[in-house]
Amino acid sequence: DHEAAACAGCGILIQSEDAKQPGYAPPSALGRKVVICQRCYRIKHYNEVAPVSMGDDDFLRILDGIGATQSLVVMVVDIFDFQGSWLKGLPRFVGKNPILLVGNKVDLLPRNINLNRVRNWMQHEAKERGLRPEDVVLISAEKGLHIDELLARIGELRKGRDVYIVGVTNVGKSTMINRILHDYGAAELEITTSPFPGTTLDKIEIPLEDGRSIFDTPGIINRDQIGHMIPPADLRKITPRSRINSKVYQLDDGQSLFLGGLARIDFVHGPRQPFVIYVDNDLYIHRTKLEKADEVLEKHHGSLLVPPTGEEAAKALPPFVKHTFKIKPTGITTDVVISGLGWVSLQGKHDASIVVHAPKGVSVGIRKGLI
Ligand code: GDP
Repeated sequence: DHEAAACAGCGILIQSEDAKQPGYAPPSALGRKVVICQRCYRIKHYNEVAPVSMGDDDFLRILDGIGATQSLVVMVVDIFDFQGSWLKGLPRFVGKNPILLVGNKVDLLPRNINLNRVRNWMQHEAKERGLRPEDVVLISAEKGLHIDELLARIGELRKGRDVYIVGVTNVGKSTMINRILHDYGAAELEITTSPFPGTTLDKIEIPLEDGRSIFDTPGIINRDQIGHMIPPADLRKITPRSRINSKVYQLDDGQSLFLGGLARIDFVHGPRQPFVIYVDNDLYIHRTKLEKADEVLEKHHGSLLVPPTGEEAAKALPPFVKHTFKIKPTGITTDVVISGLGWVSLQGKHDASIVVHAPKGVSVGIRKGLI
């Protein structure tokens, strides 16, 4: 007989009765010191995700308990997808507990970015959504950047309390937990990470020296995340793997740029000026005449304009919605941010009327330029 074990990958309770249900591991695996469920095993070794039947309600139930605790809540967001990273209803979940906001994937930002502006922008965005974090820390979970600073801040802010780590799927929360585990010398308990949304199940506990713990909660799915609108192979194509290089397009009004088949920027009116694009370095950018853009999309969506790759994926994408922006010649650089994809910088030297088309649900907004 074995005691009920938790999967070292995702934290779910291991069972060996039903292979179709979450937490399944074959009976032969149960005796091992470190048990990993079949799903995590597959992800780890074959990079393959088996869908599990864990619904939003289960996630919400787990998160709902946090408000009743005395804890520090660490919320992890992807700085390339702030809107898609947003845990709706978080103010309700956290109750009166202090919040530390963590912006992950800082390794992807161009070198000349002003990190203070990134932090200010994140504070501002959080405030708009009813949350006032105590502080913002920028890290790269994958490259191990600023993890010391993160742990130091957690140490200061938790004041002897437990720590809950929350975040939607795909922001790099598992990667971050793995980093923390490394720092605490428990590397054999690695958590499954994958480029696919929804990998971490149930909650995982990392004991701290004072008898308190860090709890990792499951990544809830935010359906407005662009990553949930395209197949996994396409998600890989829009997820930058290395530092983003800007690309400059000198545009005349009456021209449009397609960012793959996921967004379109129309320069409707204004003098010729540079549009500086910050997206995955390999994303195909297609320039065309505005008057032809509808036709070009109709003809080439899913073929030339990818991702989405293929007719089916193109059809499955939510319809484009228009977002209109008027840039004034204030001399201040403005970024037009397409959540999950990147942003376009305009120098603010001239007037510009632009229209951004993006799939319904994907947030498009402006901020003060980060450079
Ligand atoms: P989770 O769903 O929030 O647990 O996310 P994961 O930890 O599985 O990470 C999601 C994706 O983001 C994976 O493809 C990771 O390799 C990638 N990722 C995580 N952290 C970083 C980071 O600091 N920088 C970059 N560039 N990618 C990261």
